[in-house]
Amino acid sequence: MEFTEKALVLRVGRFRENDVWVKLFCAGRGVITAFAFGGSRSRRRFCGCLDQLVLASFRVGTSRRGSYQVLQEGALLHAFPGLRKDPRKLGLVAHCLKFVEAVQVDPSGARPVFDLLLETLATLESGAVGAEMLPLLFKAKLTFEQGLSPDLALCVRCGRPAWDHDCAQEGVVAADHRLAFSVERGGLVCGLCGDVQAEPLCLGSVRVLEWIGKSRPADWPKLALEPDMRRELGRVVDRFVAWHLGLRWENGTYRKI
Ligand SMILES: [Zn+2]
Repeated sequence: MEFTEKALVLRVGRFRENDVWVKLFCAGRGVITAFAFGGSRSRRRFCGCLDQLVLASFRVGTSRRGSYQVLQEGALLHAFPGLRKDPRKLGLVAHCLKFVEAVQVDPSGARPVFDLLLETLATLESGAVGAEMLPLLFKAKLTFEQGLSPDLALCVRCGRPAWDHDCAQEGVVAADHRLAFSVERGGLVCGLCGDVQAEPLCLGSVRVLEWIGKSRPADWPKLALEPDMRRELGRVVDRFVAWHLGLRWENGTYRKI
């Protein structure tokens, strides 16, 4: 079956002198691998498209026996020059691309993840996000959008309100008020239940998690966090991703655990 679709190139490799394989994140069908025969030579069919971090419209067919996908041609849409010239930003991009590939997004849920990734790249290219926050925000947002949103209102053990939202709104409860987050149960545990396994989390961090759920990447430059809160959130989000998606960041890549 042949199709033409907008896709972002996640990875590229050569497997014979002139032949290339690509890992594409297709907007409507998730991550696929396809072969571009003669790809390293053909400027006419693939001009500027067979490079990591290129957004292009690709025409993809299948091999004669239908056992693998073949890239027919590509039309370059955007090559993110603002990211390419900045090694620090490229490092952040690589982290996001590896996460997308590791998550193995279901084809039916590919579109929102694709949009999230492109919005993240556009925000980063426009220059504004704090570098230390971007992987954390992207990882949390993508995980929440996979139907794994944490429960931040009611206690995951007894169902009572885990903290008093009204008081917090009026500033009666301090942002450093300590709460507990159960990674395994995916939400807050109230003070009455207690849970020795739960991660401590201050109310300020809970509010940030709520905000990430509602935010878009274009909002992310507004967020500034104290190092303590950043570390606390980083630890909770990493444990949450490890438990619910089975992925852990190790030696510069995501491993299935
Ligand atoms: Zn409880």
